[in-house]
Amino acid sequence: MKEQFANQDGQVVVRELIKIIQENRAYLSEVDGAIGDGDHGINMAKGFTMTAERLSQEMDLSESLKTLGRTLVMEIGGAMGPLYGSFFKALARACRGHEQLDAHVFGRMLEAGWCAVIELGQAKVGDKTLVDTLHPALEAYNAAVSAGSDFREALRSMTEAAERGKESTRQLVAKVGRASRLGERSRGVLDAGAVSCHLILDSMARTIQGLL
Ligand code: ADP
Ligand code: MG
Repeated sequence: MKEQFANQDGQVVVRELIKIIQENRAYLSEVDGAIGDGDHGINMAKGFTMTAERLSQEMDLSESLKTLGRTLVMEIGGAMGPLYGSFFKALARACRGHEQLDAHVFGRMLEAGWCAVIELGQAKVGDKTLVDTLHPALEAYNAAVSAGSDFREALRSMTEAAERGKESTRQLVAKVGRASRLGERSRGVLDAGAVSCHLILDSMARTIQGLL
């Protein structure tokens, strides 16, 4: 079993992300509709679909992620454009110049993505945002790598934690973003960003596992 994959072979990671977001367009908007304005799937699908048109065949993973990040930042409104845009741009920067990506490089990518989201959005764990998926996923990934897990196992730990993190938003009261205006009434349903973040991490993990 390989422990790394070539940056040059990584565009498929972004291609699969585009597919998963397009497939979940209606679902993500439905989740956002419960306590937000119901546009999360529309925003996401618009940005990811525009990215598909901007990818060219020779782009590696870093360039593909940069294209995705830039497109989201420049073209997509709402909370999600800048937040996920910065997330993917940070991922792109963290793997630029690495011919091969192993568990350590991917760990640095996740860390960079997390920092970008926190810097911009200032949300904490428990605020009922995508951070409730991203932070435990990053922690579980790092813990697995530190404990000696291989790349595949660490990715599995990451996705399992992302799933639990997503589910944790159901019982939370929203503290930031649009849903925070509802106060207690935001309890009882999932957060749309936490759901999309789980879809994104799960898709990346599965595609990378396929490349190893
Ligand atoms: P909008 O709220 O502008 O309609 P979207 O519906 O596309 O934007 O995205 C909403 C999601 O954005 C929320 O479900 C939440 O997870 C995430 N979000 C909002 N504000 C923040 C923030 N400050 N930090 C992290 N995530 C946030
Ligand atoms: Mg919305």
